[in-house]
Amino acid sequence: MQLITVGTVAFDRIETPFGVAEKTVGGAATYISLAASVFLDKMGLVSVVGDDFPEATMDQLRQRGVDLQGLEVLQGKESFFWAGRYHYDMNTRDTLETRLNVLLDLDPTLPEDYRTAPYVMLGNLDPTVQAKVLDQMTERPALVVMDTMNFWMDSAMEKLREVIGRVDILTINDAEARQLSGEHSLVKAAGKILTMGPKYLVIKKGEHGALLFSKDRVFFAPALPLEDVVDPTGAGDTFAGGFIGFLARTQDHSFDNLKRAIIVGSALASFCCEKFGIERMLEVSREDIDQRIQEFVDLVDFDIELVG
Ligand code: AMP
Repeated sequence: MQLITVGTVAFDRIETPFGVAEKTVGGAATYISLAASVFLDKMGLVSVVGDDFPEATMDQLRQRGVDLQGLEVLQGKESFFWAGRYHYDMNTRDTLETRLNVLLDLDPTLPEDYRTAPYVMLGNLDPTVQAKVLDQMTERPALVVMDTMNFWMDSAMEKLREVIGRVDILTINDAEARQLSGEHSLVKAAGKILTMGPKYLVIKKGEHGALLFSKDRVFFAPALPLEDVVDPTGAGDTFAGGFIGFLARTQDHSFDNLKRAIIVGSALASFCCEKFGIERMLEVSREDIDQRIQEFVDLVDFDIELVG
C-alpha cells in the first residue's frame, strides 16, 4: 500500500440556504481516499459501516484503487450519520446531529499489507482509533498527516493531544486552531501548536484559503473564487487527500513541495464544493484538475517592481 487512511465513512444530511441533501454518502475517509486516488493506485481504507451502506459506493472506491479489506461492515447496524446546516456565507456551519452508530464498535485490526504503508492519513475520527492505527504500523511511516475537529477537542482533548504529539503534519481549520491553542492570533496559535509535536501545520480557512506553517516559514494559498458553491462538505478532507496523495506520489517532503501540495489540495477541494456530497469528485478528470491548477497559478501570479 502507498497510503492508508483512517476516518469516517458516513451518511450526511446537508442543508444549505440554497438546497438540501437528505441522505448523501460522505465521511472523512471517503473524501480523502477519492482525492488521493488522483495520484495513487494502491490505497487502504480503515473504517466501519453498517449494512445500510451502498455496495455501489464501495465499488466506486475499489475502481479507484482503494482497497477495502480495512473497511468492516457490521450486519444489523447503522453507519455513522452527521447532519449539518451551512450559514448564508457557505463558509461556516452548525452541526445539527452526530450519530456515532457503528463508530462506537470500531476497534481496527490492520490487514498485514497496511502495516508497512509509508504514508498514513489520520482522518477526522476518534483519536483513540487514530492512535490504534499508528500503534499497528510495523515501522514509523515516512509521513503521518492528521486531521481532527472541534467535536473531538470537546470530548477527548487529552487523547487528541497525545496523537498530535505523534504526527508530522496537522491540518485543522482556523476556529479549531484557536480552540486547540487558546490563542486568537493564528500566528501565535501556529507557534504553540508546532511545539506540540507536528513539524508543519496547515490551517484551513474555507473560502479564504489555507496557511502552511513551519517553525520559521509561512505560505498562503487562496481558495479559487467559485461562481457557485453548492456544498462545501468534505472540502477539508478532499484538501487533505489531495495534499497527502501528491506528497506520496512525489515523495518529497521539503517546504517547497509542501507548497505545491497545498495548491493541489486546494484545487481538488474547489471541485468538491461544486455538487452535493461526493458526486463531483467521482466525475472529475485529470484534465479538469490540471486546468484548475493552472487557474490557481494565474490567480496569484503578479510582477512588481519596488519604486522609491
Ligand atoms: P469536512 O467538511 O471536510 O470537515 O468534512 C465533512 C465530513 O466529516 C462529513 O462527510 C461527515 O460525515 C464527517 N464528520 C462530521 N462530523 C464528524 C466527526 N465528529 N468525526 C468524524 N467525521 C465527521
